[in-house]
Amino acid sequence: MLRKYGVSLKKYCSFKIGGRAKSICFPNNEKEFVKEITRCQNKGEKFCILGNGSNVLFLDRGFAGKIISTRLLNKIYLQNDEICCEAGVNLNFLCKYCAEKGFIGIENLFGIPGTVGGAVVMNAGAYGCEICQFVKKIKILKDREIIEKSPTNFSYRKGPLGKDEILLSATFSLEKGIKQDILASQKLIMEKRKSSQPYGLPSAGSVFKRGKDFFPAKLIDEWGFKGLKKGGAMISNKHAGFIVNFDKAKSDDVLYLINFVETYAKEKGYNFEREIIVVK
Ligand SMILES: Cc1cc2nc3c(=O)[nH]c(=O)nc-3n(C[C@H](O)[C@H](O)[C@H](O)COP(=O)(O)OP(=O)(O)OC[C@H]3O[C@@H](n4cnc5c(N)ncnc54)[C@H](O)[C@@H]3O)c2cc1C
Repeated sequence: MLRKYGVSLKKYCSFKIGGRAKSICFPNNEKEFVKEITRCQNKGEKFCILGNGSNVLFLDRGFAGKIISTRLLNKIYLQNDEICCEAGVNLNFLCKYCAEKGFIGIENLFGIPGTVGGAVVMNAGAYGCEICQFVKKIKILKDREIIEKSPTNFSYRKGPLGKDEILLSATFSLEKGIKQDILASQKLIMEKRKSSQPYGLPSAGSVFKRGKDFFPAKLIDEWGFKGLKKGGAMISNKHAGFIVNFDKAKSDDVLYLINFVETYAKEKGYNFEREIIVVK
């Protein structure tokens, strides 16, 4: 298994921010993944599971433990017309695979730069569609045991996993459709994303979750905070829900802007909940 020591976390997240981790390893298959996690748990070693790093903020001080990447857990196959994916399968790859095999429904998730693991954990969604609509079964590691179940307890940006549970793989069930229609929908969704989101600059997507009866991005825009900068970080001019790293931002720059917005929102009577995960 590939292992690297003292690596810069900037390379492993979409924000391109973060200090160094003690080490990072890349299990080649589920067996190695489970073994590595169990070894850390037995030794009481601090670790963090990492998918594509598109929803995390690493701190400038780094991570005093081991990063276990799912990058190489990318097996995908069809079984009884259901799509089985290891945790590290890229969501875009899954969408393209569905198009190729003629499965329709998941197109709105095209362009989310995460893995199946990260998406199920967060119940990723876009344009009125959530990954939970297609999840038939999950295989997880819980208390050193591998368990398979059909999860039902998803909610908005919250997956079915409990604390310390780790997703090993997921099985998806989709309707049959026509490849050309699916590809056309994916193209439209990608154009929509590119026109409304700051795709050219490093970020971790939407910073805050949608509220019960409000959209944080809309409020941040109304409050005039688009373009607000701290160091190398800025509230995106294109989408007020994103903070972008426009010039070697520090994690403290991002946290300053997050805290600023949260405090202002509170004064206005809104409780903004973070979607981004700060890895400590
Ligand atoms: C430009 C951009 C656009 C985005 N658009 C959207 C969008 O439209 N909708 C949306 O929902 N999100 C969006 N995101 C956020 C992000 O892409 C999603 O949340 C994605 O699902 C995260 O997946 P990941 O593999 O990158 O997770 P990571 O960032 O690697 O990890 C996120 C969390 O999940 C945990 N985790 C990852 N894999 C596992 C596993 N196998 N088992 C247990 N825990 C695990 C990590 O420890 C971490 O706590 C966007 C991000 C960017 C940068």
